[in-house]
Parts: sequence; structure tokens; C-alpha cells
Amino acid sequence: MKVEEKKKFLIVGGGLAGITLSHLLLQRNQQVTLIDDGLNASTKIAAGMVNPIVFRRTTLSWRATEFLTYSWDFYKSLEKQLNTSFAEPLLIKRIFPSVNEKEEWQKKQLLPAYQNHLVNIESVNKEQNFGIVRSGYFVHAEKFYIENQRHFEKRGILIKETFDDNFFSALESTYRGIKYDHIVFCCGYRVSETPYFEDCQVKPTKGQTLVIKHHELPETASLHLKCFVFPMGNKTFRIGATYEWENSTLNPTQEARNTLLDHLHHITKTPPEIISQPVGIRPTTMDRRPVLGSHATYKNVHIFNGLGAKGYLLAPKMAQEMVEYLLDNTPIPKDYNLIRYQSAV
Ligand SMILES: Cc1cc2nc3c(=O)[nH]c(=O)nc-3n(C[C@H](O)[C@H](O)[C@H](O)COP(=O)(O)OP(=O)(O)OC[C@H]3O[C@@H](n4cnc5c(N)ncnc54)[C@H](O)[C@@H]3O)c2cc1C
Repeated sequence: MKVEEKKKFLIVGGGLAGITLSHLLLQRNQQVTLIDDGLNASTKIAAGMVNPIVFRRTTLSWRATEFLTYSWDFYKSLEKQLNTSFAEPLLIKRIFPSVNEKEEWQKKQLLPAYQNHLVNIESVNKEQNFGIVRSGYFVHAEKFYIENQRHFEKRGILIKETFDDNFFSALESTYRGIKYDHIVFCCGYRVSETPYFEDCQVKPTKGQTLVIKHHELPETASLHLKCFVFPMGNKTFRIGATYEWENSTLNPTQEARNTLLDHLHHITKTPPEIISQPVGIRPTTMDRRPVLGSHATYKNVHIFNGLGAKGYLLAPKMAQEMVEYLLDNTPIPKDYNLIRYQSAV
């Protein structure tokens, strides 16, 4: 059996990108140090829904079937390793806003690529005004983040601090005097705080949600019409989420609260009791593809970012491809490689 050469990795950022990458590197017997200061972490406040379908056009999202299987297996095996549970199946109910969308669903449900994902409307009741995605699931995001932090802390891998560029030499591959074979920046929307990936075009997209109590909404499926209504148990629900491109502060706003309540009104006319208004910031790209790759000059300095609004679906498989790139020199395809921005300059 081939004995894997042990290399030293510094991972900056312990959200989904940093967590998945660290686990997969450790599985390949690599030495990992993870730095995370816990500010923002869209990973922690996400609804954590894994939905392979893009509503409105009723299409499968990018590589959805492949990602769905890989990520489910990843989370389930991680649950065993960490001796906890955070991933569960979820019925996702799309309430059709128009006859056109229902007709589109009825066409798609007959196609082989969609049959494992969409419940056939005719098999239930063709008069119904909703469709059900049966292949979705959710990751209890806060628990996932906290359990992983605990795990890495216990193993002595996690350093809880802000990465300080003054102690970093990209040329020598050192941080605080320690030499690393590879440094991977997984900083989410805060990518611009370090000077190495100014060209990567990851932009912040603020997302606000509401946690509410409600006594009439169903607790057996998440509902989707204008907003999502995600059941958290005990008559508590998460409503979300806004997409705000002009404002990357972490404070909740009255405007977003009004928008979400207005959207909820399309699903239920009974007003909710509002518990809280969690805010996070997604790292998004214009072409909705992640960003993986290496700095043009400093070949040991890399990026894994741009997980956007579907991080829980994408991260495990993308992290695996990142590991294969770093350890086996497997190329990263151009459509999600950092070079797509570098060559455009
Ligand atoms: C409201 C909302 C709802 C969402 N719902 C879903 C959903 O239902 N399903 C889904 O799949 N996705 C969802 N997402 C998207 C998902 O949360 C993101 O795709 C994913 O969390 C991004 O992970 P990340 O690791 O790239 O970034 P982050 O989660 O932002 O993590 C980056 C980490 O790096 C740390 N960091 C950054 N810079 C430094 C530094 N200089 N020094 C030290 N540490 C640093 C931060 O503290 C943070 O912990 C949602 C996002 C939001 C905001």
C-alpha cells in the first residue's frame, strides 16, 4: 500500500469550506492547523437545507445528483466520527406561484434525471397546487459548526484567532515563524481582508432570516413560496432569506424584517411571534460557481471559496476535489478554477 507523504497545511477560516477541507486532509493523513475567529460564519446561521432543485424553472442545480449523494455520505460518516447527529431527510414542498410552473414540474417529473427527486403530482392528487422534492435533506447548521469546532479544538488543531497578515510570509510559506507546505484561505466573504485574492471576485451577499413561533404552520415539510418556512421543531420555524448585495454589515434591519413578514403572508395570514432575526453573509460569485485554485505567484497559497447559497450541497465534493488538486495534482476544471478570473485580466 502506498504510504502518503505527510504535508503541513494551514487552513484559514473554519466555516463549511475550512471544516470539510480539514476533515478530508486529515483522512489522507495530512497535518492540519485551522485558524478561525468565529466572526460571521454564515455556516452557523444557515438554514442548512440541501435542495437539488432550483425553483421557478424547476431545474436540477449544477451537478446536483452527484453532489447530493456525496454530501449525504460525507455528513453521515462525519456524524459517526464525531459521535453526534446533524443531518436528516427533509420533505421540501414547493407551492406553485403560477400554472406555468406547475406545468413545468409535470413535464420534468417524467424525465429520468428528475424521477428520484420530484414526487409525481399525479400519483398524489393532480389538483394540488404544490410539488414535493423527496431527495432533499438538512444539516442542523449551528450544531454542525459547534460540534466541528469542539472536535478540532479537542484534537489541538484549532487556533481561535484572527489571521494576522503581519506574521505571514507568502514567499517563505510561513506563519508566525512556522513553515507550511500549503496555506489555504477559506475565509468566506472576508476574502478581501488579506491581499492575496483580490482578483477572485467573491462578493458578500447578506442574508437575513426570522425565527418565529407559529401554531398553524405544518412541521412535517419545509414550505417554499416567495420565502422558505423551515420547521425547527416545537412550533418554531425559520423564515428566509433575503439577498442583499449593497449591505455587508451583520446587523439586522427593519426593512428585511418587513420583507420577510410580507413574504410569509403569502403562505399564512396568521401573524407569527418573532423570536429573533439571525444574519449571515454568503460568499457569492457572479457565475454562481465556487472558486478553487492557487495564487498566480505564490504557488503554496490557495483559495477555497465562493460556496454561495448552496454551500451545504457543494462543500464536501468541492473539498474533495481541492484535496485531490493539492495532493495528487488533479487539475481543477476552468469553470470553477481561480484562473477564470486571472486569465480575464
Ligand atoms: C441566511 C443564510 C441562509 C443560508 N441557508 C443555506 C441553506 O439552507 N443551504 C445551504 O446549502 N447554504 C445556505 N447558506 C449558505 C452557506 O451558509 C454558505 O455557502 C457557507 O456557509 C459558506 O461557507 P464558508 O466556509 O465559505 O464561509 P463562512 O461560513 O463565512 O466561514 C468563514 C469562516 O472563516 C472565518 N474567517 C474569515 N476570515 C478570517 C480571518 N482573517 N481570520 C480567522 N478566521 C477568519 C470566519 O470567522 C468564518 O468562521 C445560507 C447562508 C445564509 C447567510
